Amino acid sequence: MRMLVHKYGGTSVGTLEKIKKIAKRVILEKENGYEMVVVVSAMGKTTDHLVEMSKEISKNPSRRELDLILSTGEQVSIALLSMAFQELGYDAIALTGFQAGIKTYGPHTKNKILDIDSDKIQNYLSQGKIVVVAGFQGINDEGDITTLGRGGSDTTAVALAAKLNCPCHIYTDVDGIYSVDPRLYPQAKKLQTVSYEEMMEMASLGAGVMEARAIEIAYKYNIPIYVASSMNDVEGTYIKEYDEKMEENIITGLSISDDSLMVTISRIPDQIEHIAMIFEKLAQENVNVDMISQTAPLSGVISLSFTAPKDDLFIIEKIMSEFNEGFEVSIEQEMTKISVVGIGMRNQSGVSGRLFRLLANHDIKVKQVTTSEISISYMIETKYKETAVSVLSKELNL
Ligand code: ADP
Ligand code: ASP
Ligand code: MG
Repeated sequence: MRMLVHKYGGTSVGTLEKIKKIAKRVILEKENGYEMVVVVSAMGKTTDHLVEMSKEISKNPSRRELDLILSTGEQVSIALLSMAFQELGYDAIALTGFQAGIKTYGPHTKNKILDIDSDKIQNYLSQGKIVVVAGFQGINDEGDITTLGRGGSDTTAVALAAKLNCPCHIYTDVDGIYSVDPRLYPQAKKLQTVSYEEMMEMASLGAGVMEARAIEIAYKYNIPIYVASSMNDVEGTYIKEYDEKMEENIITGLSISDDSLMVTISRIPDQIEHIAMIFEKLAQENVNVDMISQTAPLSGVISLSFTAPKDDLFIIEKIMSEFNEGFEVSIEQEMTKISVVGIGMRNQSGVSGRLFRLLANHDIKVKQVTTSEISISYMIETKYKETAVSVLSKELNL
């Protein structure tokens, strides 16, 4: 029999009514002849509330314990959804990440999936059960519960689809992938298809509609993904292998991220040893540094700026306080990263010049820039975000 993985995000399972509706959607697929695996997130803002509670107790809560509390949200939704299936007369079973055989590795709260022992799931499917799996969680070598980082249920769903070698449908609160987050730019256009590479870049640069790691797995195992609304039947977006027609537009999308802060360290003696030490320390604490820029030496000193997740503020402050002698450190939190993404940029020059001109015309100061083969990212102060999004989106016809 054909298998299919469905994934429903937080908003889509936000109320009991919605959970009952989802159960009916899944049953339609089952009636169409699919063996169904359903991955769900925690209801509504549950995960945010669990984080807030933990932070009320401790400014820097133990990551192991955070994983324990964060994983509870998904456990509630799988049990409820499974009950909803049973109530409708369908056999279903709810599995936590551990029960579903999802093995992970890495630092707590940022785990990655190592492998999935899918025998149990396959067994339940062959018994005709709908298998409901908790997103965003697994178990490590030590038998501790782990989580995959915020938005990680997408990764659970795609990894399961890869293991079962079947398509993955991501149902969410928006009816597909848009060129720009429609909440920030309502005129954005819906994309019919988007390549894995572009979606991976858009997601890793802030398009929160899908988790980048999920796309990475889909790309690696060539798993087709369909993203659509959980509330209606409007045609969504297919994420798939690149084909030449996709290159008609040089720029496919614009991603916006408010998740990074910018650290600037000035008056560092111009010795590579100092720079190495700073980044080593950050790496030891699992701080994921993104953009980095360094000024040329002036009177024997240099300045260094880098961006890193706001979530790591506490640990960054701690590390920086250790380097304080003689260095001047400033941390700017009101920062936004705006990135343009498009596979067509590979063979096109002059894009960055055009974008700099647009930003300059609107007095938007750029604090950092990075590029990849298919993207250009600008770090700007958040106060310029709205203008930058609207100017770039209009000019690039997104
Ligand atoms: P879920 O809880 O279903 O995982 P998310 O909140 O993680 O949902 O993702 C859906 C949200 O992603 C949308 O409400 C939308 O505001 C946002 N989003 C960001 N970028 C995009 C984009 N390019 N296209 C569509 N939605 C986007
Ligand atoms: N519940 C988790 C979160 O809010 C995982 C997810 O929704 O994908 O980040
Ligand atoms: Mg999500």
